[in-house]
Amino acid sequence: MTLKESEELLLAARAAKVERCIVIGTDRETSAEAQQVAQTHEGVWATAGIHPHEAEHGTDGILELLDQPFVAAVGECGLDYFYDHSPRNEQRSVFAEHIGWAHELDQTLVVHTRQAWDDTFAILDSEGIPPRTVFHCFTGGVAEAQEALSRGVSLSFSGIVTFPNAENVREAAAACPLDQMLVETDAPFLTPVPYRGKPNAPANVVFVGQKLAETKRLPVADIAEATWNNASKLYRLDD
Ligand SMILES: [Zn+2]
Repeated sequence: MTLKESEELLLAARAAKVERCIVIGTDRETSAEAQQVAQTHEGVWATAGIHPHEAEHGTDGILELLDQPFVAAVGECGLDYFYDHSPRNEQRSVFAEHIGWAHELDQTLVVHTRQAWDDTFAILDSEGIPPRTVFHCFTGGVAEAQEALSRGVSLSFSGIVTFPNAENVREAAAACPLDQMLVETDAPFLTPVPYRGKPNAPANVVFVGQKLAETKRLPVADIAEATWNNASKLYRLDD
């Protein structure tokens, strides 16, 4: 994505009253780009990490980026046994390396996990769970949510909560305390209802918040306030 394209998305986000964004890195190149966007735009922070899909290419260059200004988290990193784009043993070792960095640098950890719950929890338990850990784009049900929440992990909900067939994820959201809840878009993927079929954009996080409010039978403002405060704390955005 060019800087101009990111600028347009950020303008649209602000028009929808989305004032802060985290731009996710998934390999060395996108992590460096995310840091650039963060450095040049107010209200934007970046992550730096290797997505499990890219694990086989190694982790060169990420540690240096984690030191750069406006990099608010290590990740996204984790395990994806649904696509298996990288061999599982490499996914596991790269994930463990990221957890180690989160500890060493006292950084937040952003975890991607898909159809790999047992190994995800096993690796987190053996490496030690960083005090600020987020499961991004949470796809589990109540059981997986409880496993995560009891370990102090926060759950970030995406447009999936608006999908008709995602009752399990809505049940997880209903069970998630407000102080461990976050919202995200995972743009350009997972466009929420009512815009499914179109590319996703940060402005659409509003629909995720609305659905969570409906699911938890709370005013939208309560979800907005809680997720704003949680993001501030987890990513240390006010520092
Ligand atoms: Zn992901």
